Formats: sequence, structure tokens, C-alpha cells
Amino acid sequence: MSHSTHGVTLAELYRARKRITGQVVRSPLVPSAALSRRFDAEVLLKLETCQPTGAFKLRGATNMIAALIERHGREALARGVTTASTGNHGRAVAFAAARLGVPATICLSTLVPSNKIATIEALGATVTRVGASQDQAFEEVARLVDEEGMTLIPPFDDPLIAAGQGTIGLELMEDAPQLDRVFVGLSGGGLLGGIGAAMKAIRPEVQVTGVSLSRGAAMWKSLEAGHPVAVEEAESLGDSLGGGIGLDNRCSFALVDEVMDDHYQVSEAAIAHAMVDMLENEKLLVEGAAAVGLAAIEEHGIDIRGQTVALIVSGNGVSLETLDRARHLVGR
Ligand SMILES: *Cc1c(COP(=O)(O)O)cnc(C)c1O
Repeated sequence: MSHSTHGVTLAELYRARKRITGQVVRSPLVPSAALSRRFDAEVLLKLETCQPTGAFKLRGATNMIAALIERHGREALARGVTTASTGNHGRAVAFAAARLGVPATICLSTLVPSNKIATIEALGATVTRVGASQDQAFEEVARLVDEEGMTLIPPFDDPLIAAGQGTIGLELMEDAPQLDRVFVGLSGGGLLGGIGAAMKAIRPEVQVTGVSLSRGAAMWKSLEAGHPVAVEEAESLGDSLGGGIGLDNRCSFALVDEVMDDHYQVSEAAIAHAMVDMLENEKLLVEGAAAVGLAAIEEHGIDIRGQTVALIVSGNGVSLETLDRARHLVGR
């Protein structure tokens, strides 16, 4: 086998798909007439915004919890699962745990606004508010794992998480076997790593293009350095792409290094334009992280003429306030 795939084999991907079927939406792949015309290409949108939690992260969380139940029995998870995300991953773990009958505790800092807390509680999870930063919330997660016997569901750095996200790649290959290229937002790399592993296993010539923020592109900086590095975080319209990859990264760094063919960074202005473009022309409300593929093609003038290209529209976790910021940047 030419690819080592770091635990995300085709067999693991198909097992993931079997586990999540019925729990997670098999999302539509929709042609965009406007973008296809604009770029003289066949542009397809993979709408992960159709997931019940509004983002693809449900795939990985569902696969990991279901796999742990399968391997160790439900009793092993009786103390519950835990994580420390305010965003799409926190909602995914809360939703998946409730569906699979496992308790979930989501640790959030005291700075997290109450509407976000209410959203996670409404999904059936317990919210623990601790500390004044995400780092302190993570310390509480570590304590819950060490002292209370809870099980960590990490946001990206685990083969089960990457395989869950990679089921998107299986669906793409079934719905568009002629696909030439896929654009994937890149943060911790579970999404790109999983999709890349699936597509390279089935159709090695598919080009996998990663897109990061221009500020705080932790995975990209780590790949350049040859090992995981920390980067300074900045506020962004694509906030779901922020955050580090973990200095003790054990899976997603090597996986992305293996399956990603090329990479672009996008500015805040380009993300803003792409978000407004998606709303106006596609009638899709998407968060910044979900618009970075379009942002990269526009900002870097990437030539996709004559190609069949998929953009992963990864989530819709955007507030009116953030949308206003995007509109303001675009000037309309
Ligand atoms: C988490 C997330 C990403 C990036 O996924 P990684 O696996 O961390 O690279 C992209 N888009 C959205 C909407 C996300 O929530």
C-alpha cells in the first residue's frame, strides 16, 4: 500500500459510515450554476450545513462514541463523554451522545455567552462552567477524564474522528466519481485528513486543496516547520478554523501531511466576500470557515477551468453579528 493513512484506512472509513448511517445526514451535493458559469467549471457544493447540528463535526463525534460503545460496551461510557468546545464540536458531542444514550459534559469558560450555553444544554448535555479561558476549560476536561472516569472526545486528533469526517469523501466519490479537485477548510485537520484519505484511496488523482486563515494557520505553519508548532490566535470571520493542532499531535498532522496536495491562505476580506456571495447567489447562510474554498479561488485566482470541483460547505454556525461584520467588510 502506498499510503500509510495513519489509522484511517478504507476499511475504517466504511466501518465509520456504517456506524453513522441513520444518525447523521447523508448531505446533498448540489451543483452551483452561478459558480460553474463564473469559473467555467463544474462547481459542486457539499452541504454539511444540512446536518442537524449545522456542521460536519457530527460525523466524527458520532463515529467515535459509537465505536467506543462497540469496542468496550456501553458500561465503559457510563461516566459519560466530555470535551471543551463552544462551537460546532461541542454541539456535535452533545447531540451524538444524546442519540447514543451516553451522558455528555461540555466544559466552557465563564466568558462563553449564555445563548451558546443554552444551545448545548438544549441538546441534552451538562454544561460545566470553569475558568476564564478555553485553556482552563481544557484543564477541567483533563480532570474529568483522570478523576471522574469520563472519556474525551477530541475535536480532530483521533483516527476515529478523522474517519467519521472522511465519510464525506466516500459520499463525494459516489455522487461525483469524475471529481478532479476538492477544496477543504483546514484547522486541526480531521476534516481534510479524513476526506483526503477516503478520496486518495478510491481515486488517487483527485487533488486535495486545503484552505486556512491568513492569521493563525497552525497546521500550515506546523507543516512548514516539519513538526507541530503553536501560533498566535486572532479573531476571524472563520473562527471555526482558529486554534492550535496540539503540540503533542499524534494523528491529524501526519495525515494531512500525507494527503494534502496544495494549500492557500485567505484574508478576512476574501472570506467576507465569499460569505455574502454564498448568501446572495446560492441563498446559503454559511459561516466563514465554510466559505474559504470560494474565498481561495477568488482571492488567488485559482484556475479551475474545465474541472469538476467540490467545495465543502462545512457549517452554518454564524451569528447575525458576525454576518454584519462580513457585510460591513464587503461594504453592503
Ligand atoms: C471544525 C471545522 C472546520 C475544520 O475542521 P478540522 O478538522 O479542525 O480541520 C471547518 N469548518 C467548520 C465549520 C468547522 O466547524
